[in-house]
Amino acid sequence: MAFRSFLERLKKPLLLATRDHFSRLPRIKGLEEAICHLIDTAPPEVKGLSWAAPILKELKGLFEAFEKASPAEKKARLEQALALVADLEAGPAFLEEESPLPDEAKWRHMRLELARPLQYLKGVGPRLAAKFASRGINTIEDLLFFFPRAYEDRRQFAPIGSLRPGDRATVRGEILLSGAIQYRRRRVYEVVISDGTGTLSAKWFHFREADLRHSFTPGRQVIFSGEIRLFASRKEIIHPEVEFPEASDIELHVRRIVPVYPQIEGVSAKVIRRIIREALEKYGPMVHNFIPDDVRRRRRLLSLSRAIKGLHFPREDDDLQALNTGRSPYHRALAFDELFFLELGLALRKRSYGLEEGIAFQPESQLVRHFLKGLPFRLTRAQERAFEEIRQDMTRPVPMNRLLQGDVGCGKTVVAFLAALLAVDNGYQVAIMAPTEILAEQHYLNFRQMAGLAGVNIELLTSSRPPKEKRAIYEGLAKGYIQVAVGTHALIQKEVHFARLGLVIIDEQHRFGVLQRAALREKARICPDTLVMTATPIPRTLSLTLYGDLDVSIIDELPAGRKPVITKVFRGRERRAAYELVRQELAKGHQAYVVYPLVEESEKMDLLAATESAHYLQKEIFPDYPVGLLHGKMRPAEKEAVMSAFKAGEIKILVATTVIEVGIDVPQATVMVIEHAERFGLSQLHQLRGRVGRSHRASYCLLIAYRVARGSEAARRLAVMCQTNDGFRIAEEDLKIRGPGEFLGTKQSGFPEFKRADLIRDYKILLEARQEAFSLIERDPDLSRPEHKMLKRILYERWAERLALAEVA
Ligand code: ADP
Ligand code: MG
Repeated sequence: MAFRSFLERLKKPLLLATRDHFSRLPRIKGLEEAICHLIDTAPPEVKGLSWAAPILKELKGLFEAFEKASPAEKKARLEQALALVADLEAGPAFLEEESPLPDEAKWRHMRLELARPLQYLKGVGPRLAAKFASRGINTIEDLLFFFPRAYEDRRQFAPIGSLRPGDRATVRGEILLSGAIQYRRRRVYEVVISDGTGTLSAKWFHFREADLRHSFTPGRQVIFSGEIRLFASRKEIIHPEVEFPEASDIELHVRRIVPVYPQIEGVSAKVIRRIIREALEKYGPMVHNFIPDDVRRRRRLLSLSRAIKGLHFPREDDDLQALNTGRSPYHRALAFDELFFLELGLALRKRSYGLEEGIAFQPESQLVRHFLKGLPFRLTRAQERAFEEIRQDMTRPVPMNRLLQGDVGCGKTVVAFLAALLAVDNGYQVAIMAPTEILAEQHYLNFRQMAGLAGVNIELLTSSRPPKEKRAIYEGLAKGYIQVAVGTHALIQKEVHFARLGLVIIDEQHRFGVLQRAALREKARICPDTLVMTATPIPRTLSLTLYGDLDVSIIDELPAGRKPVITKVFRGRERRAAYELVRQELAKGHQAYVVYPLVEESEKMDLLAATESAHYLQKEIFPDYPVGLLHGKMRPAEKEAVMSAFKAGEIKILVATTVIEVGIDVPQATVMVIEHAERFGLSQLHQLRGRVGRSHRASYCLLIAYRVARGSEAARRLAVMCQTNDGFRIAEEDLKIRGPGEFLGTKQSGFPEFKRADLIRDYKILLEARQEAFSLIERDPDLSRPEHKMLKRILYERWAERLALAEVA
């Protein structure tokens, strides 16, 4: 750890001096002194690293007489210095020789070898193989990729005298006593050892006495590893890992950083280590990913086989903390491997869009101009910019593939609708697809209002519409007189044919993947343009992976005069105070939402709660204001009636389940009460909150939470809501709290689950991998150069199916 923080301190002034193309360099003074001082006063842990010493010396040399050097010379030296620091970061393993890459014939042979069942290994018979198989480890390759979950520092034997309770340690000593002892009602086997600095007793509560007595004979040398505890002021260690110095494979288990593997039922840690070593020696060097040498050198990456070896057998001078936090050079190489191939696939995919024939729309549109004139507001600059980007894409003769991002309430819908109008005015149809019926209905209501203003024919297609209506819609779409269709997956059923589909708008909610996006596009003869929208912002890590093949437009500005929504948390018994605030808003002529959670598992109960609450609020709390109820189980006509009454201000308080999450737009509503706020996810809370604060008036979001433990995730979510209104920040926090899988609602998303990379921890690696992958595709657009042949093969094996890469092969 000392080493990492030393590197950070070293890097800081260097990065400062090189930032923005060295623009600050002329003003920076004392670099020479600072760097030399840092190196001279490095902590002993750093100075003791024999591999690092020559690099540090070279680094120091670069800064001698630095101040007197010419500006060009300074720049050159700074660049060299950064390269040396990168060497230091890459770690000692990077300095080792790598074996050369095999040719194709040899590689094929190696792959067959790696695919062999575990039983090919010495010491693995059918019984042991079955145990590994229960963990999904069937082949030698599987075993090589079965990595430790932690590392234990057994590089040195600790003197017993210096041990403290709580230490994990490895000690070596001579057995003084050995035998079973009766402690109260328990029989315990105890072995006492001494190393000259003190004594330590090891204890077993479960044991076969004859075995232990046989192994632990007084006078014998023994090595124990485990956690040190204090019992009756004597040092002890319970059920230690035991080694005898004379064992033939002793070097596997002590005097090194020892890997701790996930447990495999019925296989001891020592056996796992032994078998993995067996596999590594013969098969480890056969693993290759063919990431080009120049990329590896530039990014200071170990080869895959070196990384695998290092994970199982770290070097003695490796950084233990880095190993244990997944930040070692070995972990880095693996994460890079995973992310690089994904980005390579995305880069290829993105390029393939440019090869398809698309529609070149006419950019000038009467409909658009008229609609804009009729709008009661002016577009924000960010909206204009986003629409301009979309319009430009649409006029090009290649298909658009663009992501439209922006915070709740920034006005994405208007921008998407403008794109739709442009397509309609060009004589094309538009399909708008949402992941759920409720969302589709809401988009429909929303778009219909605008479509009404523009005189455009719009229809809703979901699977729950009666067959007769569906047939009419199919006909309207096939004949072309329905211009805009809003719907769910129902839009990609085989009965659906569009006369002239020109634009596809997808509201993702993180739930569709690349494949579903492709399915809708295939409904058209000429590839339509595609615009993907997300309801709330998504973190950048995800826009670079999940949406990494799309161009991005960001609306980073709210309409003028919007104020941040004031957010407060109330406990259940403080609910009255929240109602008081609601009353104050109602008195100003404003309106209110009261939102109830609705989850599938407890749907009936939740609906009941919302319904009862509506009655209660009407009768007991707000008898003087009309209260309405809205939930997903109501018939569409009922829902519409309630919604329009609320919009018209005839209903003042709308009690609703989360159906109002998206798309509802009533600017006079200035206060929202969210019941059981602790049950909602962060993005969902933010999305809900976005229903208020839609005008120049001050707005409130009142979160009522029950039994939230301090420090719990729910508490963290509520705190974030109170701290910020910034959807981009909230999305980052949400991702941190839930992890990518949960954040995306994994299964439906078709999103790749990363095995090695951690999108939060490895964000920097992701950026590097993306840069390298995209620049590689720029240089060799279909990976046809001979030196990329193998790389391409591996890419297709891993990603062709999931990224629908087949057509570019
Ligand atoms: P989003 O879909 O991005 O959450 P909406 O498109 O629903 O946001 O827009 C939120 C509200 O802001 C709507 O009432 C919309 O009519 C209004 N609006 C959109 N753009 C502007 C603008 N430029 N100026 C004022 N109000 C706007
Ligand atoms: Mg186009």
